[in-house]
Amino acid sequence: MRKPVIVGNWKMNKTPSEARVLLEEIKALDLDSSVEAGFCVPAIDLLVAQEVLEGTNINYGAENMYFEESGAFTGEISPLMLKDVKAKYVIIGHSERREYFKECDCLVNKKVKSALAHDLVPILCVGETLEEREENKHEAKVKDQLTKNLKDVSEADVEKVIIAYEPIWAIGTGKTASAEDADSMCGFIRNFIKESYCENASEKIRIQYGGSMKPSNVKELLAKENIDGGLIGGASLKASDFEQLVNFKK
Ligand code: PEP
Repeated sequence: MRKPVIVGNWKMNKTPSEARVLLEEIKALDLDSSVEAGFCVPAIDLLVAQEVLEGTNINYGAENMYFEESGAFTGEISPLMLKDVKAKYVIIGHSERREYFKECDCLVNKKVKSALAHDLVPILCVGETLEEREENKHEAKVKDQLTKNLKDVSEADVEKVIIAYEPIWAIGTGKTASAEDADSMCGFIRNFIKESYCENASEKIRIQYGGSMKPSNVKELLAKENIDGGLIGGASLKASDFEQLVNFKK
């Protein structure tokens, strides 16, 4: 049985003082412990996340990292820095990083391998544009991303990755993929893992849906066979929404 995993992505929101207020609110919630819950926060908020959440069952992580451990890479955050603050996750290849910061598949692949080598859980984001969906190229796009982004990731490691299927047209737009379409793409990803690795890895790997997931649609999405959780942007910025998302079984 795959444990459902709900992770917030704060994006470029919440100053450290604001982060403390929200995390204290979240810490006080009664969250279903059969669901893995966490937040990926701006790098400057990680120490606050550690202070507030360490020792609780709410996990935290970063929204990005560079693949090198240290050196002359001005402005970057390294896996060793994330380990030092006991981060669990790191989002890799979010569509906003691919689009606005020109991150290519080769860089995403280096980051995924570096995260795994440092015992961080990479949340690898893949997904198609609206144009690709309309031209029926969504499966080809996601297959190409997975092939390049998971290159040289071993069979032992691949099941540690969380893959977030995030159709770009659904991120931050209020438009959600239908539960059927989201499940079909998560199933497509699972089958890619089965064919590229093995059945065991495909059964174990967790695949999230991301794209305007909110309290009103979480139950329907997570009832689907291949959707193991959500990567949540907007709705992770309000404690009461996050509570309803994590407590989707109640
Ligand atoms: C995201 O940032 O990955 C995301 C899915 O955002 P939203 O939930 O706001 O669409």
